[in-house]
Amino acid sequence: MEQRAVARQAEGGNAHIAPAPPLSLKQQKDALREGRIVGYHCEGCGHERITPMLRCPKCKGARIRSREFSATGTVVSYTIQSVASEQFLNEAPFAFALIQLDDGPRVSGWVPWIAKEKDLPLGQKVKYVSSYKPGMQFEKS
Ligand SMILES: [Zn+2]
Repeated sequence: MEQRAVARQAEGGNAHIAPAPPLSLKQQKDALREGRIVGYHCEGCGHERITPMLRCPKCKGARIRSREFSATGTVVSYTIQSVASEQFLNEAPFAFALIQLDDGPRVSGWVPWIAKEKDLPLGQKVKYVSSYKPGMQFEKS
């Protein structure tokens, strides 16, 4: 019982013992608020992604480090959302886009005020902008 209590304390209320990720979600969120995109990098094979990984899904390696990616990228694909939830009413219509970061993985994000395909050609350069809205917001650069 005593050991469990110690583990719970170390994990911040979670009794499940797992290795600490190299980057906490809070640290990632704080960086995003400052306009920086940080994510996870596998030292074994170089696989990178924005969502947490304790083990690499590609090579099963456990040497995962945090890394700052570039905040600029290229639009790979997107869909236009003309019906928006309340949080995005002022930005609609917007594009929900897959973006290849210039130095980093592909991430999904959104670009406000995109109504037609010509508003956002594929290959368009975009940059990440810090936003209080959910998700990652990008704008044309
Ligand atoms: Zn790997």
